[in-house]
Amino acid sequence: MSNTEFRAPDFIRTIVAEETASGKWGGRVVTRFPPEPNGYLHIGHAKSICLNFGLAAEFGGKCNLRFDDTNPTKEEIEYVEAIKADIRWLGFDWGETTFYASDYFERLYQWAIQLIQAGKAYVDDLSADEIREYRGTLMEPGRDSPHRNRAVADNLDLFARMRAGEFADGTRTLRAKIDMASPNLNLRDPVMYRIRKASHHRTGDQWCIYPMYDLAHGQSDSIEKVTHSLCTMEYEDHRPLYDWFLDALGIYHPRQIEFARLNLSHTVVSKRKLLQLVTEGIVAGWDDPRMPTLSGMRRRGYPPEAIRDFAERVGVGKTQNLIELALLEHCVREDLNRRAPRVMAVLRPLKVVIENYPEGTVEELDAVNNPEDAAMGTRKVQFSRELWIDQDDFREDPPKKYFRLSPGAEVRLRYAYIVKCTGVVHNDRGEVVDVRCTYDPATRCGSADRKVKGTIHWVSARHALPAEVRLYDTLFLSPKPDEDENWKAHVNPNSLERLATCCVEPALAGAAPGTRYQFERTGYFCVDPDSSPGHLVFNRTVSLRDTWGKIEKAEQG
Ligand code: ATP
Ligand code: MG
Repeated sequence: MSNTEFRAPDFIRTIVAEETASGKWGGRVVTRFPPEPNGYLHIGHAKSICLNFGLAAEFGGKCNLRFDDTNPTKEEIEYVEAIKADIRWLGFDWGETTFYASDYFERLYQWAIQLIQAGKAYVDDLSADEIREYRGTLMEPGRDSPHRNRAVADNLDLFARMRAGEFADGTRTLRAKIDMASPNLNLRDPVMYRIRKASHHRTGDQWCIYPMYDLAHGQSDSIEKVTHSLCTMEYEDHRPLYDWFLDALGIYHPRQIEFARLNLSHTVVSKRKLLQLVTEGIVAGWDDPRMPTLSGMRRRGYPPEAIRDFAERVGVGKTQNLIELALLEHCVREDLNRRAPRVMAVLRPLKVVIENYPEGTVEELDAVNNPEDAAMGTRKVQFSRELWIDQDDFREDPPKKYFRLSPGAEVRLRYAYIVKCTGVVHNDRGEVVDVRCTYDPATRCGSADRKVKGTIHWVSARHALPAEVRLYDTLFLSPKPDEDENWKAHVNPNSLERLATCCVEPALAGAAPGTRYQFERTGYFCVDPDSSPGHLVFNRTVSLRDTWGKIEKAEQG
């Protein structure tokens, strides 16, 4: 699969194309992305964003950003700002206006009055628990509330007094009068308004009654003249109610279409659970590089292009499935392979001394910035008598087929010379202090014909910059932590490993946070915001090993 390959349109695109062709919406396509500002956006939201904004762009329409801010107690300005930043970062633009369900509170209130006047809504005095008890079950019909048949005038009076703040939280609700025997529980007189004497992040103390999701959502879609209101499958059973409100009010009626949510292996994508990870200190914050949030993935180094590519590959359907994290990582690798400059970095340093190389001499050797893209050019790397190599690249007692450095063996130093290991220096405890080598001056930058099996990376010791590198593993050990009620038991205790004594090329001095590199042979890395000129910090975005790529290749034969 690739970005450019033709893909059959998904079922939503097919519907939109048909309805556009038939003129159902007068040629308009308007979608919306409606986050509740009670957490940061995650990879599941990215799927919805790519679908809604992508669809609008393909049909020359528009996609509104609308904050579904009807719940005053859980919502914060911080989330609103973070959500906007994340959508922009992902590469989408919602135009001049940001919409808020809270801007429609007065309109929704007036519509509620209209429904009361039409005998389609009533004020109920039952408590939340009683309402639940009266609602019945899937097997049993519900029972009418004793207040269901209140006179219209009484309902109008009580609703006005609810708004005026005369009643305590939870003592009264406004309910739609639909059908207590409906097989669809959502139609058993759903609550439209509840009393909540809480300050709202935008309307302050103006309101003490707040509309429920089902009332606010469809009517907000109608106000904005949305054509296609796309939501996840859980809302399929809410669609009759979505339609009921719009029909009962006789207003513009968008079409709700449901699609399957994105579930990703080895992670959780529920804001409630992500919030717990943050508040309980299991991760360092919403933007911890292990989090499946957009801010976490940004900090980790995932390019927005890769996330959009991933959303496209995952596609849109109606059946629930679990997408492998490996697919997302594959998209990240593919993108970074094309664009990330290569550099050399040593994560676990071991000193190499080249005994026949003159002390004090420094050579500047040419290194290729990206073999995938000649236009990215070359840079100079300094070579000198003392180098750092990775501990993994030396074995005093090598296994068979070990083509790296070991006593008596030869290896090529990338962009430099072939060296031969002539000895090892130990300390009192028998640990390796450094490795002794000689170099062959005739092999500079591959100039001689001589071939050796192994090539390793290195950094000149006197030129190296110290760096901290953070390696990540999946946040959960189990592919489906969500399946267990005790999902936190599956948290991977070793998801973060900090290497404090790494060495990188001097070319990386002053690299800005967010800059991405390939460290040759070790993976893709991104400069962390914790980095400062004197203290470089890198996150490993993804390793070089690509299990998904192998699966894909095998499948293609
Ligand atoms: P969560 O379960 O994480 O709390 P939510 O649906 O409550 O998610 P909202 O802020 O209401 O979060 O979501 C905004 C939009 O994003 C909705 O249209 C919702 O359907 C969509 N969305 C949320 N999670 C996913 C997901 N995993 N896959 C696809 N779309 C999603
Ligand atoms: Mg929601």
